[in-house]
Amino acid sequence: MTALTNLLDLDPAQLVAYCGELGEKPFRAKQLQRWIHQFGAGDFETMTDLAKSLREKLATRAHITSPAIISDHTSTDGTRKWLLDVGQGNAVETVFIPEENRGTLCISTQAGCAVNCRFCSTGKQGFNRNLTVGEIIGQLWMAEFELRRTKGIAPGPKGERQITNVVMMGMGEPLLNFEPTVTALRLMLDDNAYGLSRRRVTLSTSGVVPMIDKLSKECPVALAVSLHASNDTLRDGLIPLNKKYPLRELLDACRRYLDYAPRDFITFEYCMLDGVNDSDQHARELVALVKDVPCKFNLIPFNPFPESGLKRSHNPRIKAFAQVLMDAGLVTTIRKTRGDDIDAACGQLAGEVQDRTRVQERMQKMAEYKKKFGENFGKIVEITQ
Ligand code: SAH
Ligand code: SF4
Repeated sequence: MTALTNLLDLDPAQLVAYCGELGEKPFRAKQLQRWIHQFGAGDFETMTDLAKSLREKLATRAHITSPAIISDHTSTDGTRKWLLDVGQGNAVETVFIPEENRGTLCISTQAGCAVNCRFCSTGKQGFNRNLTVGEIIGQLWMAEFELRRTKGIAPGPKGERQITNVVMMGMGEPLLNFEPTVTALRLMLDDNAYGLSRRRVTLSTSGVVPMIDKLSKECPVALAVSLHASNDTLRDGLIPLNKKYPLRELLDACRRYLDYAPRDFITFEYCMLDGVNDSDQHARELVALVKDVPCKFNLIPFNPFPESGLKRSHNPRIKAFAQVLMDAGLVTTIRKTRGDDIDAACGQLAGEVQDRTRVQERMQKMAEYKKKFGENFGKIVEITQ
């Protein structure tokens, strides 16, 4: 028996081809795609405008399945995090961050990550495997319709869209899982699927230079680049990939990307590490470094985890650092860390892979973190600029 096809793995063109193989016209693919991605249908029986014979055919050859949910937690600030089983003991996380005028979903693209940045707990896990298209788009599919079910909002285009923005900032380096990531991006942008604007879909990379160029040609979405350092020596020590693609090459790639990008700036992420990369001198060096690249800065207070041996910069230091950038005319925001009470903050998206749903252990771990890093650990860092 041949394996069933997971229709979540197919992009619009592949779905047309698939329907063709079944002897169906291209418009059937469009209908099917709407059922799946706009109505969240997982059962062919519910697709009432498809002929019964087609529904029966599909039921014997295909399925619509996203990764199984291991746990589902909502934080006190409304952040909701799902831990998803991607097989062989691997789990990834998807995080929904509600804000006043938008809902952002943070998606994972790999189980683990080979880049192994010093400050990232995903990296510490090592690389397990690339996610498939169905596992990547399945996170959006699952989250959108779970959120609607929770709120009692109807599926379909008439129901209020819950996820308006997607950021590929979960586990993994998206540009090292290029093809499945781009296929999933195409589905996010497709009008017969999620219809998100390119400006509202952001891919974050640690700086895989050739793939930045490839992305600009194949599917330019908003780009965030994890800079985290103002010179190569410092960056080499934080992001091993920098030895392969040093800052000059990375910044040149950013400039080239802007010719294709849906936004006229690159977002630079900068993780604030106490005593490592957070001095005024670093900020001034950074200003000089990016002077030819239209950009915005997003300073991320480091989310500590015990094995890292690193500490979060103190809030006044983060503010002073931001001030140097702003005085030089760079738009700078400081990210509020959210969902910390459920370990959903940046770089913590690996914490629970081992302990799964064991709430007791998780609470214990939080208590340990708090002892180590102070009562503020796990709280939203409120910084007014
Ligand atoms: N691999 C991609 C996308 C996933 S990481 C990348 O590195 O860009 C998303 C963001 O979280 C990156 O900017 C990353 O550097 C940052 N990050 C990782 N670990 C962190 C931590 N412990 N505290 C704060 N930010 C962290
Ligand atoms: Fe990988 Fe990004 Fe973590 Fe670096 S920060 S190890 S690239 S997920």
